[in-house]
Amino acid sequence: MNDLSEEYGLYWQPLGGNNIDQISGHSYRYTDITPTGRTTVIVDLGKFDNHQALGIKNSAAAVPDIRAFLDDGKDKASAIFLTHSHPDHLNGIVHYIKAGYTLPPLYAGKYTFMILEDLYKEFNIPKQKRPRQNIIDDGSLIKIGSIEAEVLASSHTCFDSFGFVIRTPNSTIYHSGDMKIDGSTYFRKSTNIRRLKQLAAEIKFVVADFYGIYDDGYAVKEVTTFKKLVELIKKSRKKKIFLPVYPTHPEMYIIAFLAALKLKKNVVFFGNPDFYSYLKRIIDYGISFDKMAGNRIKVIYNHDRQEIAKLNNNYVVIGTYNHVSQAFDANAGNCFGIITAKTFFNPLKGQLNAHNISFADVDSAPELQGFGHGFLGDYEYLNFILNRPVFIPTHCPVFVIDNFRELASFMNMRLLPDTPRNNEIYRLNGDSAVKISAMPAKWLVVIYNDDFAYLPEVFQKGTSGMGFLKRTISRRRCQKRFKMFLHRRRKNDGEPRPKIRHTPFIYREPQ
Ligand SMILES: [Zn+2]
Repeated sequence: MNDLSEEYGLYWQPLGGNNIDQISGHSYRYTDITPTGRTTVIVDLGKFDNHQALGIKNSAAAVPDIRAFLDDGKDKASAIFLTHSHPDHLNGIVHYIKAGYTLPPLYAGKYTFMILEDLYKEFNIPKQKRPRQNIIDDGSLIKIGSIEAEVLASSHTCFDSFGFVIRTPNSTIYHSGDMKIDGSTYFRKSTNIRRLKQLAAEIKFVVADFYGIYDDGYAVKEVTTFKKLVELIKKSRKKKIFLPVYPTHPEMYIIAFLAALKLKKNVVFFGNPDFYSYLKRIIDYGISFDKMAGNRIKVIYNHDRQEIAKLNNNYVVIGTYNHVSQAFDANAGNCFGIITAKTFFNPLKGQLNAHNISFADVDSAPELQGFGHGFLGDYEYLNFILNRPVFIPTHCPVFVIDNFRELASFMNMRLLPDTPRNNEIYRLNGDSAVKISAMPAKWLVVIYNDDFAYLPEVFQKGTSGMGFLKRTISRRRCQKRFKMFLHRRRKNDGEPRPKIRHTPFIYREPQ
């Protein structure tokens, strides 16, 4: 079923993450065929967030189908490259092992392996069943058969996020992973723009695995979020600040901490077990909040009334919580809230309202949302620094890309002529792409019985991701927005610096 023609080329196949109407469970297959042989690698093996919508009773997850690349056939995968540690790119690994499969060696950053280690423990996976691990970093070179992959740092919301420049005799692809252009990341390398510029002539395709294109300008930078936090805390003139953060986004823990430190406010880390487990990972990774605090502020890691009493009623509560704890003696006179995620902390908003405590949120200050995915400006920037590569947008509902085409062509961007759907196969040679097969998209639903994972196949229907989609963007809203962006750009035609938030230029080839 996954047989390719024998023609030389680099074959690209989205197995998850790129679909009819949903955008998770990432996995991409690359098979390079040259006169000397065939080489296959898989990039990412995530879980599909909305598995309940597939309608299988007792499902625990759903994963992309990579079974054809695990048996001893000619397309057996030699490696799995992992872009980063988020569940929609990583968590398929454990379910495959639980289903009895032996996985090829993994290539990932140190932090990704730390998170994977937690998953191995959670799923009781013994050492001898775990695949071999190769730690990679910005600049690493991986050589497997005719495929050479160069690892490039990416700005995203966790440590050690990478993109891969996949280079073969047939073509060169930049597989971005989740990323934005942001050069202001704290305590980790940001997107390696310098290297991308050097490789511009070589890169023919960009598998753009970020989805924020229905927002104009650049994705919010970490430094912008930091400055906004400082400004809001200052302006509130309150001594106690509630600053909840989303558990899987370590960068927000750090930005919130740095804002408190800047204003000499003590810090209380307070949250659910999930929050503390990520906090521990951040500290294990090498970020020392105590060292940064020095003698300037106190940092406490619990919610103990007596400990809190030592903080002089002057602190920022950073964590994952949906209630205002009794331990903080919160009232309208001494507290202010800053809500940094869209819906996750809605119950907390209710609590703050009930106590008459005023707060800022993402609706009033969009900079508070720590974006890990590039916006339209980030796409535009990549198009500018690279040599007009062919963009293969992934991590995006198909209708978003279909609606994007008119705007993209005005922006002088080349998009793959067909919007790719899961399970289609494209053959890439130089900068030409040919669709060679279009099998229906499917998932393997994970069902646990007696500690063993069973993986029945379920074909993806057009509506299976509806619930997930409604939380992102509707077809109509997206159409309207792209029309508006197009209108703005037409109006600004000829101006060197259009007045678009964050967008520095529009690149146009001379006529
Ligand atoms: Zn991610």
